[in-house]
Amino acid sequence: MKRTLLLGYPVAHSLSPRLHNAAFSALGMDWKYELLETPGDRLAQAVARVREPDCAGANITIPHKLAVAEWLDGLGETAQQVGAVNTLVKRNGRLIGENTDIYGFMRALTDAGVNPRGMRVVVLGAGGAARAVVFALARAGVFSVTILNRHPERAQALANIVRPYFPNLLLATNSSDDLKYAELIVNATSVGMWPHVHASPMPAGYRIRRGTVVYDLVYRPAETRFLKEARAAGAKTIGGIGMLVYQGAAAFKLWTGREAPVQVTGSGSWRVGEEFQCSDF
Ligand code: NAP
Repeated sequence: MKRTLLLGYPVAHSLSPRLHNAAFSALGMDWKYELLETPGDRLAQAVARVREPDCAGANITIPHKLAVAEWLDGLGETAQQVGAVNTLVKRNGRLIGENTDIYGFMRALTDAGVNPRGMRVVVLGAGGAARAVVFALARAGVFSVTILNRHPERAQALANIVRPYFPNLLLATNSSDDLKYAELIVNATSVGMWPHVHASPMPAGYRIRRGTVVYDLVYRPAETRFLKEARAAGAKTIGGIGMLVYQGAAAFKLWTGREAPVQVTGSGSWRVGEEFQCSDF
């Protein structure tokens, strides 16, 4: 049996085992996806476990997406640029870090019929997910990105990382007034995530305009308070489930060489094979 692992802390509530194990089973593969709870001081040991022959690769989650690079043999081009790794894959005996969050984020956005080219964007958050979001949108040719974050210095630090790669992109930080003109607002904070479902990441005193696209990376609950309020205001809303499924599908392909059996049904629910439905979350 081949194994794939999730390294992070905490990991107990992750939905990835359901996603991948359903896909392995739908394709009749003798593979298993397992959680490997990895506190900060155990990261080196956990990466050594991934190097063992029965293991085909791993996902990396909070808080190791930046730190794990130190223990790898190399990085793929996207992971190198973004500076964050969410997938480990073995190539010619080397353990390589990749980033599939960018693909997952963009694929769910385009699936929703949104082309962000030329848009004025506000990104809420400046952590690992926000980093992938800002790079993805910059690559897609947005007009401007404003990064708003609770700790403003982290927003500034993220802008400083992105700027050299995209010198023509208008990048601002911590100017909440840009929300008034935003055509796309992305929540890349964890605010609103279960169990704190009554919280909203929207700064006080600002309202979402009709026609704005509002994308929340949080996937539990499937419709956050932020998305509910945006929908009521006449915005087009996108939840985090699509990104979750597509970043997972891209990792699945890197490990197995096979397409993950992802289907998008007409009702907007997401399935992997017959056994996995995102509407279950
Ligand atoms: P992270 O690196 O820990 O960053 C967390 C972000 O949330 C930071 O910007 C932090 O602000 C902000 N934040 C946390 N608590 C806050 C609060 N009470 N008030 C205001 N801001 C707060 O985490 P991450 O990896 O970027 O993940 C962020 C979210 O995206 C999580 O909910 C995660 O589940 C989701 N995500 C979803 C997908 C998907 O596939 N759908 C993929 C990746 C991540 P400070 O910097 O000020 O602390």
